[in-house]
Amino acid sequence: IQSKLPHTGTTIFSVMSKLAEEHQAINLSQGFPDYDCDPKLIALVNEAMKKGFNQYAPMPGLPELRELIAEKVSNLYGANYHTDNEVTITAGGTQAIFTALSAVINSGDEVIIFEPAYDCYAPTVKLLGGLVKPYELAPPNYEIDWEMVKKLFTANTKMIILNSPQNPTGCTLSEKDIKALIKLTKNTDILILSDEVYEHLIFDGLKHQSIALYPELRERSFITASFGKLLHATGWKLGYCLAPEWLTKEFRKVHQFNVFSVNTPMQVGIANYLKNKDTYLGLSAFFQEKRDFFRSLLSETSFKLLPCNGSYFQCVSYAHLNQEKDTDMAVKLVKTYGVASVPVSAFYTKGTDHQVLRFCFAKKQETLEKAVERLMKL
Ligand code: PMP
Ligand code: GLN
Repeated sequence: IQSKLPHTGTTIFSVMSKLAEEHQAINLSQGFPDYDCDPKLIALVNEAMKKGFNQYAPMPGLPELRELIAEKVSNLYGANYHTDNEVTITAGGTQAIFTALSAVINSGDEVIIFEPAYDCYAPTVKLLGGLVKPYELAPPNYEIDWEMVKKLFTANTKMIILNSPQNPTGCTLSEKDIKALIKLTKNTDILILSDEVYEHLIFDGLKHQSIALYPELRERSFITASFGKLLHATGWKLGYCLAPEWLTKEFRKVHQFNVFSVNTPMQVGIANYLKNKDTYLGLSAFFQEKRDFFRSLLSETSFKLLPCNGSYFQCVSYAHLNQEKDTDMAVKLVKTYGVASVPVSAFYTKGTDHQVLRFCFAKKQETLEKAVERLMKL
């Protein structure tokens, strides 16, 4: 066969986690907690199974869960998404992104992606025959110059993908950014895909700039999210997509033949769990404490810390130490120092290397302490 993705290898997350395992390194590469989710949540899922919620859920998701999500979005962002035709439960954020892109991207459509970017966007666009238009951001602040974004617009620009708080940089979009985006896309029919998986992981009192806050954008946007981050349960692979009715209609046409519906007992358990809003309202404080702890430890190493306003990732620069490729540096950290990170060049289409590494701090205090103890030797 002729490969549909000839230049795509194995995702960096699998590569680094495997390497960490082989060398028994502390794994701060792939983003997942090394502590368990709430036992109450597990009990609720067990209870759902025991009560017989073991057959297909409705195609768009369990109505009670969709209702709770609509309520959350209304409370937090003042936006009304209709439970019946604007909220869809998915098999994680990844499937929501894949489905949204599949529903609207045609051959030759151009998609603007801010890089470094989470690694599933570009291959999915390419798989659909779309063209990736990367806009490269640089450390330390990874700011967007919206006038430069405008220069990427052509008659074929179909979509802009946003991700705030951002993976891998931990940067966030401000109200000023969104206002600039609104101005730039006014009178166009450019769609937005806003990947908001880290909406509840935002620090120092910053307000998450959900697209749901902005009616001008909301009417032509998909918002995708993941319960993996919300519940400290990345292995459950459940998430959702919010979109206006006309986009949800197209989304569900694909969703129904992609997975049809997703895990029933987990939807029941999560719905019962999310009735208590504290479960997600306390997340920012929980992760801010971890960020502060990790940063204070890292400040004793020879790395330069980059800003981190959200997500559970901390990036560091070593450009002042040496000019080794970040992929080599990441391998060296595993093999010689026993700590796994992700080289940030993996998140640029062109492999741009700023000598930056990403560490995940969704880890127990002792894991972070042990890792930094090893990094002190660098
Ligand atoms: N988007 C971003 C930015 C992510 O970091 C992740 C994974 N952590 C996802 C999407 C995918 O989420 P899920 O694991 O629910 O598929
Ligand atoms: N989102 C997580 C990360 O950025 C992992 C996702 C994955 O393994 N595909 O590390």
